[in-house]
Amino acid sequence: MQSNHAIKITKAATSKLTGTDLTKLPFGRYFTDHMLVADYVDGKWGEPEILPYGPISFDPSLVALHYGQSIFEGIKAYRLIDGSAAIFRPDKNFTRFNKSARRMEMAEVSEDIFIEGMKQLLELEDAWIPAQKDHSMYIRPFMFGSDELLGVAPSSRYRFMILLSPVGPYYAAPMRIYVEEQYVRAVPGGVGFAKTAGNYAASLHPATVAKSKGYDQVLWTDAFEHKYVQECGTMNVFFVLDGKLITPGLESGTILDGVTRDSVIALGRDMGLQVEEREIAVDELAAGYAAGKLTEAFGAGTAATIAKIRELVYKGQSMIFDVDNQPVSDELRDRFNAIREGREADKWGWMVPVKQG
Ligand SMILES: *Cc1c(COP(=O)(O)O)cnc(C)c1O
Repeated sequence: MQSNHAIKITKAATSKLTGTDLTKLPFGRYFTDHMLVADYVDGKWGEPEILPYGPISFDPSLVALHYGQSIFEGIKAYRLIDGSAAIFRPDKNFTRFNKSARRMEMAEVSEDIFIEGMKQLLELEDAWIPAQKDHSMYIRPFMFGSDELLGVAPSSRYRFMILLSPVGPYYAAPMRIYVEEQYVRAVPGGVGFAKTAGNYAASLHPATVAKSKGYDQVLWTDAFEHKYVQECGTMNVFFVLDGKLITPGLESGTILDGVTRDSVIALGRDMGLQVEEREIAVDELAAGYAAGKLTEAFGAGTAATIAKIRELVYKGQSMIFDVDNQPVSDELRDRFNAIREGREADKWGWMVPVKQG
């Protein structure tokens, strides 16, 4: 990427940093002093700008509010042990963002805006990037249709933005999950592979029902038969069955192509495990459990990285996992941390430095 011209910056009058306790950071609650903004008008993107973080103003007829043209990404930047900062695989999120944009009939963004914009915003906010263990800077790029009219059509204008939110350790207590057999997250031909706002809106009610019954999340199954495993809440899902690491394949278009998922697959193979991406029937898991061969189950996503499942309930039958004895999940988590802190050689080139050169 060559064009590395400086983005116009309007500095905030004062910094909120001194008033923010970087040792107490609930997820997504605090934002840095600046944000990146770019507008797509008349068929092209204008120059991105970095502005003081603050409210944005639109007409009440904003199409994103009415018809949901809205997509986002979630990425993390880390402080390495040498004091520098690096972003975890932002190129994957960039590609996925434009894939989501195409499915939602939205304008695609350039690498210059998405990646360069993110780097320059992070460079400006360097003092906000936490250095404590298991802390990171959560990066939220997003885009929405910004036409102001009620006609149902793809918006002709779009607003792209990047927000930064320092986050502490995401304490993922091992989860209780049940196999969802009523609601569905995605169908073939639908928008399951897109990171679009509506997928989250649609998951809130089933998740609330699950919580009211004492569960943390649902394990989504296919829309036709409720037989095949899809995802765990808003995370991809993995199992260790008969010593193999298995996860649902992406062919159906109903599963989000997670960056953590892709990284778990690479790390798993590197650890010498056989990794399979394929259809996984809940019945196969239940049979494996009964035979003592289903030993680990976990969700994988940027927020939590690896979130262990301690109990999985299917048709009233409970599968219980010994969360203190999960060598695969534990080694994966350790390897992720080592790469992100710069303690382990980054053999895949996952860590992209914020500052060039
Ligand atoms: C974002 C997301 C994931 C995880 O993707 P990562 O790139 O690993 O953060 C998994 N499933 C759904 C539905 C998601 O929206």
